[in-house]
Amino acid sequence: MPENPHDSEFRSFVALSARLGAEPLLVQAAGGNTSAKRDGALWIKASGKMLRDALATDIFVPVDLEGVRSGIAREEADPTAGRVLGVTPLRPSIETTLHALLPHRIVLHLHSVNALAWEVRSDGEARVAERLSGLPWVWIPYHRPGLPLTRAVRAPAAAGAAVLALANHGIVVGAADVAAGEALVRDVERRLAAVPRTAPGPDTAKLDAVARIGDFRIVADPIVHALATDPDCLAHARAGVLYPDHVVFLGGEACVVDSADTVPAAIAAYGARNRATPAALLVRGAGVLVARQAPGAATEMLRCQAEVLLRVPPATSLRVLTAAEVGELLDWDAEKFRQRLAC
Ligand SMILES: [Zn+2]
Repeated sequence: MPENPHDSEFRSFVALSARLGAEPLLVQAAGGNTSAKRDGALWIKASGKMLRDALATDIFVPVDLEGVRSGIAREEADPTAGRVLGVTPLRPSIETTLHALLPHRIVLHLHSVNALAWEVRSDGEARVAERLSGLPWVWIPYHRPGLPLTRAVRAPAAAGAAVLALANHGIVVGAADVAAGEALVRDVERRLAAVPRTAPGPDTAKLDAVARIGDFRIVADPIVHALATDPDCLAHARAGVLYPDHVVFLGGEACVVDSADTVPAAIAAYGARNRATPAALLVRGAGVLVARQAPGAATEMLRCQAEVLLRVPPATSLRVLTAAEVGELLDWDAEKFRQRLAC
């Protein structure tokens, strides 16, 4: 497998990736990705790998930059196919084409909670515009991660945008070097910072009673319970899903129950609509349970949802993903997508 470059520039890129990946307000589980362009190669985070592990293990895979770019220009179905440099078991992130298209040497794509808190609003573009004024930024309407999003970014990238605010998704920042990239991320974060509400704590006795009915356990992370104890968070969670990773790890709708005796009917109804068992139960007024077998990523996604919704004022109109957009995420070879989006 190809070795990571050993120079100080690449080491500082890897260190920045690990630093950003360790911040739950910027990256959750294997979401988000970073890249560095050098010597004709695009070093991109591998799918399924976590940025926070960047210093502990090899998470970057090199691809032929000009080859991927030509594949995008020729509208190939998968411009990264056959363009990994060297022999490696790592597969490039589903967002590789987006990174390749941008001209910057360093590209940082983050599922920023603060950005999402604005980007999921119906008036998101105007609210973000107020805060990013003066920066070379652009609003990108929602597109499915992968080639559809890449195509939407082509014109703004050519026009010199260095900050992309992705509706219902996150941010992309491009810079000439690592220090400038981190400085721009911090500036964007400072401008978009939103203050979260404090939610009531969980009712563990009630949660215990519900957990006994199904194969669920109480979520350990206290912030997650806001999804069910804060009435506005719960209302928004019931209304729909807001960004792709949530759909991939937690499905297209929330399963809400009022008490232990309503659990079997709620799970059966959820199963009839979704052909799946719910990964989590939101117990109204009490807190959140997660399926015993759910991966750690599911809890990180619940935490992200709570962090975002606690930053959305009550009664704010949100743009939830449409049924077609959710279906596109779930039907697009769901397992393959889950492994690759892990982006
Ligand atoms: Zn993403």
